[in-house]
Amino acid sequence: MLLTITTTHSPATDIGYLLHKSPDNLHSKKLPFGQAHVFYPEATKEKCTAALLLDIDPIGLVRKNRGTAFPLEQYVNDRPYVASSFMSVAINRVFGTLLSGTSKHRQELVDQDIPLKTKIYALPCRANKSFLKDLFEPLGYDVETESYALDRKFPEWGDSSYFTLTLEKSCPLRELLIHLYVLIPVLDNKKHYFIGDDEVEKLLQYGEGWLQDHPQKEKIANRYFRNLRSFSRIALDRLADDSPVIDDDEESGDPVKADSQEEALEDSIKTEKKVSLHIQRHKAVIHALKEHNITTLLDLGCGEGKLLRFLKNEKSFSKIAGCDVSIKSLEIVLERLKPDEQRRGEPEIELFQSALTYRDKRFSDYEAATLVEVIEHIDVSRLSALERVVFEAANPRVVIVTTPNSEYNTLFETLSAGQFRHTDHRFEWTRLEFKDWANRVAKSNGYEVSFHPIGDEDKKYGAPSQMAVFVKPDIEEKKAG
Ligand code: SAH
Repeated sequence: MLLTITTTHSPATDIGYLLHKSPDNLHSKKLPFGQAHVFYPEATKEKCTAALLLDIDPIGLVRKNRGTAFPLEQYVNDRPYVASSFMSVAINRVFGTLLSGTSKHRQELVDQDIPLKTKIYALPCRANKSFLKDLFEPLGYDVETESYALDRKFPEWGDSSYFTLTLEKSCPLRELLIHLYVLIPVLDNKKHYFIGDDEVEKLLQYGEGWLQDHPQKEKIANRYFRNLRSFSRIALDRLADDSPVIDDDEESGDPVKADSQEEALEDSIKTEKKVSLHIQRHKAVIHALKEHNITTLLDLGCGEGKLLRFLKNEKSFSKIAGCDVSIKSLEIVLERLKPDEQRRGEPEIELFQSALTYRDKRFSDYEAATLVEVIEHIDVSRLSALERVVFEAANPRVVIVTTPNSEYNTLFETLSAGQFRHTDHRFEWTRLEFKDWANRVAKSNGYEVSFHPIGDEDKKYGAPSQMAVFVKPDIEEKKAG
């Protein structure tokens, strides 16, 4: 199992610096499935080639992998000989420092485009041969594939599903390694290691900046997760969900979050007490939570953590948590709320990334869940998934949902007819539409629901925002008794 990377960058031996492996030595590392060796078959100033050779331990593999597909598989399989996803793991373990992307002394070299040619031998591609090109050409590589007859004595058997792949491109070496790290397992449909929750994070982390726009992103996600649809759907959802936020940032050139456009608009409402609408909204939510004696809360779609910031000073809460699809938002919350620096009397703060349209065990750990200005960011067709996840599966004692009241939009001078308050809103509801939805959800999941206007009410159009408080009646009564 062999991968070579050649450069003619001047001086070419810089590649040794980038890989943290000196061209003068042989470097060996023990991995769970065998040995990885890095060496340089050629190393001059003009041209330098780094080789990563994997020496898989077939016996160790058999011992570790008891669950095989057919009785002889443990003796007859291609794992020791092909550039399978072991190669991807080895890239990560052996070149991890470069993958992380930072260099103390020569950051400019890490970020620099250098001419690169890489060759991977015996690469299994169980899809059509053209899939290799479909994967790498959109990323700007010149792609060459060499195929091999299954058996030269029997040409009628056709070609095997193994290739030698050559890729050429001028780019940072890190970029090339990331593409190989993600795409080798995509080609190899026998991903060998356990697929855990962090795999989605890994794919998103390494896919940043290229996967979102890749024409084959569905196939990449599906195959990366060995067709475990639940994982690939989460990944694709997140790639899609994150995009409007990024677009907003790029267009306006400043770091706005999804909801600030809306807040700016809502702030144009001159309220009697001159308290901005989003503060009124968070106060109303906190008031309702306290009314129901809530002590642990999960803020779903917490954004930059505005509600959590208010709650941090509320002594009656012992644990408050925020979750969002957007890592960017969560990073902001982390910076602002510093959950690690919890002071005496302050609630414990938890943050995690998750999508609201997929079941997540962690959602069940709290007495209440809030969805503050979140549902309108979900496609109507996915709303029933959110209902199942929040009301049916997580099923907390109290759920609070707020959403704009679309009737009020006509009073915003800057909003034209039919326009939503935010470009990422998928819908906005009238008071009746919200009530119909909430009543149906409450009825089918055993909640009682009450409705509350937020902000100053207009006689005809109602208040700018609306809140529904869902409460499980039986548990409430028991508590009271
Ligand atoms: N509740 C916050 C933010 C509201 S903006 C506040 O009141 O300030 C809507 C938030 O929902 C965004 O942060 C967005 O990233 C998040 N979101 C949108 N779709 C989501 C999904 N499917 N799963 C989880 N969060 C989602």
